[in-house]
Amino acid sequence: MIDRARLAGLVAAERRLFDERNPRSRSAYAAADHLFGRVPMTWMNKTTPLYLAAARGAHVTDLDGHDLVDLCLGDTGAMAGHSPAPVVDAVARRLGELGGATAMMPTEDAAWVGAELARRFGVPYWSFSLTATDANRWAIRLVRALTGRSKILFHSYCYHGSVDESLIVLDAAGRPASREGNVGAPTDVLATSRVVEINDLDGLARELAHGDVAAVLIEPALTNIGIVLPEPGYLAGVRELTAATGTLLIHDETHTFSAGPGGVTGRDGLRPDVVTIGKAIAGGIPCGAYGLSAELADRALGRADLDLVDMGGVGGTLAGNPLSMAAARATLGEVLTDDAFARMIALTDRLTAALRATVAGAGLPWSVVQLGARVEVRFTAPAPRTGTASHLAADAELDDFLHLFAANRGVLLTPFHNMALTCPATTSSDVDAYADVFAAAVAALTG
Ligand code: PMP
Repeated sequence: MIDRARLAGLVAAERRLFDERNPRSRSAYAAADHLFGRVPMTWMNKTTPLYLAAARGAHVTDLDGHDLVDLCLGDTGAMAGHSPAPVVDAVARRLGELGGATAMMPTEDAAWVGAELARRFGVPYWSFSLTATDANRWAIRLVRALTGRSKILFHSYCYHGSVDESLIVLDAAGRPASREGNVGAPTDVLATSRVVEINDLDGLARELAHGDVAAVLIEPALTNIGIVLPEPGYLAGVRELTAATGTLLIHDETHTFSAGPGGVTGRDGLRPDVVTIGKAIAGGIPCGAYGLSAELADRALGRADLDLVDMGGVGGTLAGNPLSMAAARATLGEVLTDDAFARMIALTDRLTAALRATVAGAGLPWSVVQLGARVEVRFTAPAPRTGTASHLAADAELDDFLHLFAANRGVLLTPFHNMALTCPATTSSDVDAYADVFAAAVAALTG
């Protein structure tokens, strides 16, 4: 369907244009002699990085002075938009006027944030971290301690941050295996984890029957291998099977937060035992959180043998710091509000319809999958229903082409796939800009 020679030529042309357009970003990159891999974090080498000069709302300005519509939004870390005024004010007040970015003392903001997260996600008792990864790590420790079981079960091709247990997939023969490229695994992942495909309740029942799974830790939709939505009844089935086998259920809402003010959990009225989240909840200031059911919180606090205070392995010095808490209160209270989600999702509906019209008009065997304020194009149709199918539908060259083509025309997509996310400041002209760029890219591709 895709003419690969034509695609290779287009990628080369877009790369030349990218290099011509971005001399300052390129020389900044070339000058970063003392950064490991020339970047502040090695994943930034996914593409030649555009350097950030400034950002406001749904736009970023790069070092060469281009204004870009930002649909990457720090891959969800900036889902509140860049530097929204209430967060700027709250952070300035905490850091400047009041003082005390970090103090080993609680602030009243934290209690407000806990109550708001409880309202949105249904689980009543919250604790904080600085990242979603740590929220997941600490939740995993707690569920292991409380169940006395050793294993955590994941969806194949999930992503929950750099959590050792989660780096497991089903291989080509459908057997559990360490995820390719896993750096310095502390132990064989098969000793700590089990894995099933999303949307496979039979597989889940079979794996839980071993009786050694402390918790199922899932995103309610996969978002890190393209978006793979749960089929009707799947999440209810997961809840039934986990409850029936004494297995706890953790929803990681870090990305699926795009589905609404309480993520998929809140939108669909689901009842996990634990919810974890990070990235967007403090408007770009580092903050993660995990929420526990009343039953679980009681059990944990009632266990004198668990050291929740000092050396137990759940906690961090800067976790729950006053600056993160002030930023989270402003973000949840004034920026990522219920009304803001309604507007973001309506705009994303409009974008999804436009992308679908382009795909259908070109007769491409692609699919467009939306999860609230997030939408992504997959290079296969119908949309993949498992992580493995979505992994197999990846096309790095097509992704490169779409990213370069969009960046060269003022639209930034998330680097690891072609995900587009909206924030409260995104406008219809912003989403239309991407819809037009996507249509032009498809036209170039199909002639
Ligand atoms: N959970 C999910 C669902 C994620 O997508 C990610 C990051 N992409 C994480 C956790 C980890 O977030 P962080 O890297 O901020 O710790």
